Amino acid sequence: MDNAATTALSGEVLNAMMPVMTECFGNASSIHAYGREAAAYVEKARAQVAAAIGAAPSEIVFTGSGTEADNLAIHGYALRNKKRGNHIITTTVEHHAVLHTCEALEKQGYEVTYLPVDEYGLVTKEQVEAAIKENTILVSIMFANNEVGSIMPIEEIGKLCRERKIAFHTDAVQAVCHVPIDVNAMNIDMLSISAHKIHGPKGVGALYVRKGILIEPLIVGGAQEKRKRAGTENVAGIVGLGAAIEIGVREMPNAMAKVKALRDRLIDGILSAIPEVKLNGHRENRLPGNVNVSIRYIEGEAILLMLDINGIAASSGSACTSGSLDPSHVLLSMGIPHEIAHGSLRLSLSDYNTDEDVDYVLSKLPEVVAKLRKMSPLYNG
Ligand SMILES: *Cc1c(COP(=O)(O)O)cnc(C)c1O
Repeated sequence: MDNAATTALSGEVLNAMMPVMTECFGNASSIHAYGREAAAYVEKARAQVAAAIGAAPSEIVFTGSGTEADNLAIHGYALRNKKRGNHIITTTVEHHAVLHTCEALEKQGYEVTYLPVDEYGLVTKEQVEAAIKENTILVSIMFANNEVGSIMPIEEIGKLCRERKIAFHTDAVQAVCHVPIDVNAMNIDMLSISAHKIHGPKGVGALYVRKGILIEPLIVGGAQEKRKRAGTENVAGIVGLGAAIEIGVREMPNAMAKVKALRDRLIDGILSAIPEVKLNGHRENRLPGNVNVSIRYIEGEAILLMLDINGIAASSGSACTSGSLDPSHVLLSMGIPHEIAHGSLRLSLSDYNTDEDVDYVLSKLPEVVAKLRKMSPLYNG
């Protein structure tokens, strides 16, 4: 129930990676047969990633993670295009890979507008339009939110950015293989991908960079990835990403219809079985696998621990990952009060989840909530 954090590696993906982790150990930059074989694996994967989003293989740069792809897109573009302007537009609900990159750029003299979101975690094309200034060079808006699953109006924003000749980056880590993506139809200039969110291996990602969009490398020291990302290629990881995205896009229509049905049953079941629960995010316009609810009078962490005891892995918007007890910046941005944001629970499904999984959660969660509420000084029944 925590597939937005990571997913299980697909057996088919593992099989694709195996030869590269055993007999085919060449360095993709070597000119001998071992190297050429490794390079061929990398180029096959590049074509797979490109095909999944309607790009050309030459427009794909492999990275060490989705986080690195976000850093490379925003930091790399800002550095390279500083002469044209220093203003960037993003939103308050981005992943920290985007937010912290923008904050770092602010310290270097860039100017960043963080667009506020509505109660569903969404921004509009009109908001972006109103924020554009003379010196705006880049708009970075996530495709789908990792906490509440809201899907942004990417096609409209892409069209606007193209008309205004401003580069458009989207963090599509949660959207790839969950919703259809076409970088040309959607006028996307840069797009971030991560393998481990789509049943691929951890530690590998990709950035789509449209032909003609220039970025400064952040990692130097070699000519790999057309000098956009130095370092000997993680060939096995790259092969895993290529296989995962090809399978994910191929299976998407069936897999996502199934996941959506599981999600809806989970949402309806939770809302009807537990009193004083609110769904966070939009009822329809959300990722097929995302459920996020606020359960009043109790703490997200407490629910997580009790679910964990029952063998259910979930996540909370109030996750104190950095030792901070601040509730989720996404939920707060949506105008959800602190005390309600603290009681948030995210259940995120993949196509590996089953009807039995949903039944099991629905059999345990009401019990867990009732038990915690009984102990809560805030709850009087
Ligand atoms: C997971 C995630 C990332 C980071 O990807 P990693 O490969 O884990 O670094 C970035 N953005 C979003 C929306 C994510 O969900």
